[in-house]
Amino acid sequence: MLAYLDHHATTPCDPAVVAAMAPWWSEHCANPANRLYRPALEAAAAVERARGQLARVLGSRAETVIFTSGATEANNLALKGVCEAALAAGTPRRRLVSLVSEHRAVLDPLAYLGRHGFPVSLVPIQPDGLVDLAQLEAALGDDVLLLSVMAANNEIGVLQPLAAIAARCRQRGVLLHVDAAQAAGHIPLAIDELGIDLLSLSGHKFYGPKGVGALLVRPGLKLAAQLHGGGQQDGRRAGTLPVPLVVGLGEALLGAEADREERAGRLGTLRDELWAGLEALGGMELNGVELNGGAPRLAHNLNVTVQGVDGTRLHRLLRQRLAVSSGSACSQGSPSHVLAALGRSRQQAAASIRFGLGRGSSDAEITLAIETVAAAVRELR
Ligand SMILES: *Cc1c(COP(=O)(O)O)cnc(C)c1O
Repeated sequence: MLAYLDHHATTPCDPAVVAAMAPWWSEHCANPANRLYRPALEAAAAVERARGQLARVLGSRAETVIFTSGATEANNLALKGVCEAALAAGTPRRRLVSLVSEHRAVLDPLAYLGRHGFPVSLVPIQPDGLVDLAQLEAALGDDVLLLSVMAANNEIGVLQPLAAIAARCRQRGVLLHVDAAQAAGHIPLAIDELGIDLLSLSGHKFYGPKGVGALLVRPGLKLAAQLHGGGQQDGRRAGTLPVPLVVGLGEALLGAEADREERAGRLGTLRDELWAGLEALGGMELNGVELNGGAPRLAHNLNVTVQGVDGTRLHRLLRQRLAVSSGSACSQGSPSHVLAALGRSRQQAAASIRFGLGRGSSDAEITLAIETVAAAVRELR
């Protein structure tokens, strides 16, 4: 048995979502951009239905939804689109502000913009993973165009205080972009109520298909298109819409919203059991805010640093029975920038384990996870 506990990397597509997508591959294949015949109008209606589903769950309006290939593209469109529109409008504000703990899909576009005339400030995080609001506020000067903050962290699961952040952005005349790839379908989000200007999400992070996501954009906000072509989606993102994926995206978010509270309750209990079992082994440090009922964190995340073991050897033992992530980006062996920002050393980051529980996670898997870590620790310490 291999327990899949890496739901922050991706989630399995819900069979009900696969079923909802099925007719749109071959049976109903028409291009929704063609308005001449009935099958195309039906495809266009299916796309509009999905827009409505997303908007309803996220507390916004259907016209705000731009479908993309995922959150990476949505983040690129948001950040580059806002900057390019500001340039065209001659807006004097140029600075971009974000957090050191953001996903690479935000940090890399920001670094790119930094090389093209938009200075970037990254605000540090506190040892618990949360931003200090006074420090953030101090970074929102007169020259700031946009702040980009993730709703939920993909490594340590902490939830940044979005309402307070949004209020400060409004006061300071700063646009707010939220990378909600780990939050949509997992915690309540109310875009209009909070006053979020742009929000990115990704289907495969909430039991939907891979290769589709969306950027929700406040009506009236000037955003320069980054893909030019056939003028689809009112010219905001050209390219033929992948109707099956778009249908799947809408269904997946509805489905994730339907069992969201029940799931968070059940997975929070399993997560607490997992932590209790690991803590009993000794020499375990929790990454991110404390685990307690009201703590601002995702219920299905647990990130721990195992003291006194070599990370490479630890993960070599774990991978035989557990699909989990480590605290180092495998490709370069460099430590996670998020764990580094919490003060973890390179060795500690490598000897960290990210557990991401999901809809299918069971008691048996948690028991297996505790036993597997226990055996590895016995062997390595
Ligand atoms: C997964 C993820 C992304 C990238 O999403 P894709 O749809 O895979 O491009 C961006 N931001 C965060 C926080 C993520 O977790």
